[in-house]
This record gives sequence, structure tokens and C-alpha cells, in this order.
Amino acid sequence: PEKNPKAVDDALLRAWPLPMPSDEGDKEERGRLLVIGGSREMPGAVILAATAAMRAGAGKLAIATGGSVAQLVALAIPESRVIGLEETGEGGIATGAASALESMKGRLDAVLIGPGMQDEPAICEFVHALLPMLDGVNVILDAAAMGVVCDARASGRESGFLGRYGAQVLLTPHAGEMAHLSGASKEEVADDPEGMARRMAQRWNATVALKGPVTYLATPDGRVWKHEGGNVGLAASGSGDTLAGIIVGLAARGAPLEQAGAWGVALHARAGDLLAERTGPLGFLTRDLAAEVPKLMHGLR
Ligand code: AMP
Ligand code: MG
Repeated sequence: PEKNPKAVDDALLRAWPLPMPSDEGDKEERGRLLVIGGSREMPGAVILAATAAMRAGAGKLAIATGGSVAQLVALAIPESRVIGLEETGEGGIATGAASALESMKGRLDAVLIGPGMQDEPAICEFVHALLPMLDGVNVILDAAAMGVVCDARASGRESGFLGRYGAQVLLTPHAGEMAHLSGASKEEVADDPEGMARRMAQRWNATVALKGPVTYLATPDGRVWKHEGGNVGLAASGSGDTLAGIIVGLAARGAPLEQAGAWGVALHARAGDLLAERTGPLGFLTRDLAAEVPKLMHGLR
């Protein structure tokens, strides 16, 4: 592996042009996308993520969310098909709900699981049931859905386990989540974020974006990139949901996970810089980030 991480900068992004559709392309050509998340207490997270995915240019959107909030999510995102899933008493999604998504098997290009989900034990079972259906799919795990990693560690099945499914997986932990997932202390993560991202990418056999003021992106085969940028106004509710949405939208279009991750992190940070400039350094709303993405993505600003 290379010693120093490469920067996520204009040169890198130019070397990784995003897949563009043909002029005659239909919506399926730009990716069939499923965003799974949202719960009674946090329906907004899945709305932010799905909106961001469409702003990143994904073509065809389906959302799966808790049955109790499915109608309100559908109204918030008229572009989407919304599937209401059976819920647990804790506001999570029931394990059996995975079978409700079985008909989508083989018809998906990218899936995001996690924003606004509750009830980690239930989520773990749900994700374990879902992953075998996602052969060949780009899967982003965010927020509570990343708990499958803890679950696998607890049962001694952690090593390389995400690679055992046919899906390619990217996880998006912030430092606190990384500590929880890896079993390391918060100090250990803070002292060596690059090393943590590198080691966990190998251990889990997944691409890892360890988020923060500086974000490290690491692949299971030992490549690492470092992104510095954005601003402290991005440390606000809904920020990570939007980032995960941008990444899955790009992945749906066909960008490999490390490229979708690098583009997503850069677009999210630059959108934050535009809003900070326009609105003020603090107090811009993360819901406004996504609308900045199309022009940034096409180099229009
Ligand atoms: P989350 O904690 O999941 O909502 O994600 C927060 C997002 O905001 C991540 O993409 C971070 O990289 C970004 N972020 C948080 N704090 C800062 C900061 N001080 N400077 C730049 N970006 C930040
Ligand atoms: Mg988050």
C-alpha cells in the first residue's frame, strides 16, 4: 500500500469523470436506486438522503421506510415510489420486512441503508437478511445500519464478512461511530484516523469513509485518500444523511464506490462552502445542500 494518502482534489476528480448517460438514455440507465431508512422519530433523514441522491443525478428512485411514515415520505418526495415496511415496537424495521423487497432483487444498481433507522438489533437482522439479495449491487451503509459490523464482531464472524456477500459495500462512520463499530476507544480513532480507516476497510472487506473535518476514504485493497475542506457549519443534523444520499446517487449512475465516495465528500463540502458564503457560516440548513449539487457536479461553479 502507498504510504501517504492522495488528496481528494480537482486533479483526482478530473481523473475520475462521472459516468454520463447517452442523450437517448432513459431513467434506468442512470441507475435504479433504493434508499432504505426513516422511522417514526426520524422520517426526515430518509427524505434528505433520497433527495440528495436524485440531486446527484440518479435516475429511478424507490424508498423503503417504516409503514407508519411511508405516506408522509411519499408526499415529501413526489419523485419516489415508496414501500412501507413492517415495523417493530421500538420503531425499527422488522426482520421479515426484507422479504417485502425480494421482488426488487436483480433490479437494483445501488442501495443505501440506514439514515434515520432506529432499533439497532432489529436493523442488524434486517441487513443480514437483505445483503444476500444484493449480489453485484453497490451498497452504502450509514448510521445505525453499520451496526451489522458490531453484530458480526460479537458473534466472531467479523473478519472480511462484508466481502462474503456479492455486494460491494461502503460505510460512512463519523469518529464516534467508528469507535463503536471497531471496538477502539475514541482517543484511538482521534489519534490515528487514517490508520483506523485503513485497518477497518481491510478487516470488514468494505470501503470506509471516516468522516470529520478531515475525511479519510480507504478501500479493502489498501488505497487511501484524504479530503480536507468544507466548514464547521456542516456539523449539523442531516449533514451525514445528505452525504450518504449524494454518494449512493453517484453509485447508482455507475461510479465505483471509491469514486462515488470521493466525489460525494467533495460535493458535500463544496455545497457547504457555497451555503456558508451565501447564508452565513453557521445556520444554513443541511436540507439546502442537495440543491447545490447539480451545478457543482458539472463544474458550473
Ligand atoms: P454526520 O455526523 O453523520 O451528520 O456527518 C457529518 C458530515 O459533516 C460529515 O460529512 C463530516 O465530514 C462533515 N463535517 C462535520 N464537521 C465538519 C467540520 N468541522 N468541517 C467540515 N466538515 C465537517
Ligand atoms: Mg450520520
